[in-house]
Amino acid sequence: MNTDKHRVRKRFGQNFLHDQTVIQRIIDTINPQEHDHIIEIGPGKGALTSPLLSCVEKLNVIEIDKDLAAALRTNFGDEKRLIIQETDALNLDFNSFDHTDLRIVGNLPYNISTPILFHLLKYRERIKDMTFMLQKEVVDRICANSGNKQYGRLSIMLQYYCDVESLFVVKPGAFTPIPKVDSAIIKLTPFQHPRYELSDHESFKIIVRESFSQRRKTIRNALRKYLDESVIRKAGIAPENRAENLEVSDFVTLANCYHHMKINSL
Ligand code: SAM
Repeated sequence: MNTDKHRVRKRFGQNFLHDQTVIQRIIDTINPQEHDHIIEIGPGKGALTSPLLSCVEKLNVIEIDKDLAAALRTNFGDEKRLIIQETDALNLDFNSFDHTDLRIVGNLPYNISTPILFHLLKYRERIKDMTFMLQKEVVDRICANSGNKQYGRLSIMLQYYCDVESLFVVKPGAFTPIPKVDSAIIKLTPFQHPRYELSDHESFKIIVRESFSQRRKTIRNALRKYLDESVIRKAGIAPENRAENLEVSDFVTLANCYHHMKINSL
């Protein structure tokens, strides 16, 4: 299929990059090297795929849209170095790739960018870095610091596991069709060793989620069902604080208290 005739599928968050200056800037940011193990999520019509493929010896791409996957197969016909997987990246087992230094890139479909990030976090030990285009608002939320209005669950979960860097903004005119919002490039580098010792990932998820369930509540009230005020205080955290004023390390401390309490009550 000729990609010019492709009917845009909104449900797949399809906004295709056409601005060559922006495309080159993204490629320069990724800085692909010949032996890198790069996986592109959502290659679409190949805006990033072609320049990436000219730098590396092998490239994996994952595309959910069967027409676009077919068009890529036609357009890159004899190119054995391009491995096209026609599947949903959200269901893909990234352990199925041989290497442990994966570089994941993509202009991500905005409607599923958060679930994809959480899915990828499960494989963080095999991932060297991730460079993504996301809605600017999502990048701002991921990179926000405590005390900032945008600081929340996404900031804490991603900042615990990764170094996060907001790189540059991309205006709507760089895409077809034109989206309604600004986009931005973010680089996420999973930490080789966690910055703070966490006893249990599930407890961390619960504590972070509940702390932000109602932003205006104090930690004492938001976590009433999970932790006693006295335990919070003993851990060195003022229970009168709101979640938005706590650091990532405070959430780790609270999650560890909760986990130990659960174990001891068994
Ligand atoms: N990379 C292309 C570009 O920059 O022009 C296309 C980017 S477009 C924003 C997102 C792409 O992701 C589309 O090709 C879409 O079909 C694909 N996509 C959407 N959901 C997906 C999923 N769950 N798994 C894999 N690909 C997906």
